[in-house]
Formats: sequence, structure tokens, C-alpha cells
Amino acid sequence: MLENVVEFFKNLPDKICVQCGDKIEEQSECYSNNCDKCNSL
Ligand SMILES: [Zn+2]
Repeated sequence: MLENVVEFFKNLPDKICVQCGDKIEEQSECYSNNCDKCNSL
């Protein structure tokens, strides 16, 4: 069970902030292409 979840996330492409190029780790919602740091600016 748990391994299936891990594999699912492994197969997801890394989401990268379009502003600073950092990887976006929190993916609670997909409405933004910016990381939390850039979103808060
Ligand atoms: Zn950013």
C-alpha cells in the first residue's frame, strides 16, 4: 500500500517555481507555479 504511494510521488515531475527556480515541495493546490516564498512577496 505505502509503496504504491511512494511510487506515485516518484513518478511525478518536480514542480519548479517559475520565479526563483526552487523546487516546490508543498503541493496542496496546483493553482500556482510559484513557491511559498515567491507567493508571499
Ligand atoms: Zn520561488
